[in-house]
Amino acid sequence: MEELKNIQLFLLDMDGTIYIDNKLIDGAQEFFETLINQKKNYVFLTNNSSKGVEQYLKKLKNLNIKANNENMFTSAQATAIFLKEKKDKASLYVVGTESLKKELALQGFIIEEDVNKHIDYLVVGYDTELNYEKLRKACYLLNRGIEYVATNPDLVCPTGDNEFIPDCGSICNMLKTATNREPIYIGKPRKEMVEIVSNMKKIPLENIAVVGDRLYTDIACGINAGVKSICVLTGETKKEDIFETEFKPSYVFNSIKDLYNIIK
Ligand SMILES: [Mg+2]
Repeated sequence: MEELKNIQLFLLDMDGTIYIDNKLIDGAQEFFETLINQKKNYVFLTNNSSKGVEQYLKKLKNLNIKANNENMFTSAQATAIFLKEKKDKASLYVVGTESLKKELALQGFIIEEDVNKHIDYLVVGYDTELNYEKLRKACYLLNRGIEYVATNPDLVCPTGDNEFIPDCGSICNMLKTATNREPIYIGKPRKEMVEIVSNMKKIPLENIAVVGDRLYTDIACGINAGVKSICVLTGETKKEDIFETEFKPSYVFNSIKDLYNIIK
């Protein structure tokens, strides 16, 4: 536990880790105040590609959590970095929210709606504005062998009252059933999600911990990147899941409040 005091950069999941819906989890406020007082760094690492950075910052502000652009790294941003390395200014067909399209357009990509025009990549995100027309166009492209990238592998997204709704991974599974094609998944658990932030902040991996509520994304990401992983039981993962999973976290806490009590 003592080694957690040496962590200089916490990479935190949001849904189920620091808040559920619009309600902050008990202890989160104190946790961030402590990090600020101790001059430690935190970045929110989210797989949710349905919202843009600005929307997250607004939400955090409403919840009284201090954050700016420097404190955010989303799967949409990671997807843009990944695609840029493959081809600058590529043209994309996006099964995603208007906010995701806007974010990719800002990064210099051409967002194409007409699937008969030249398209380099199909990008699928957590599309809370999904409709049949988008699915039809995606299938059209997949059946023609287009390169296929998805922002995140999450199957479900938690909402309040213990409800779970389809996330990007479920949309991709539907497309897989229809076309037998699978995407390259960006976002957690890819180790690049940690490595990119480690480089940006110039903080070595040994001083970084990933904190999250989901084993196959958050904890797996920490394991893949070779950093400490902390599982909180305020979201998807239940205590009994820890014994069965192949993704064993370095630490398990009931909530972020317990983590706060260790580092304070
Ligand atoms: Mg979560």
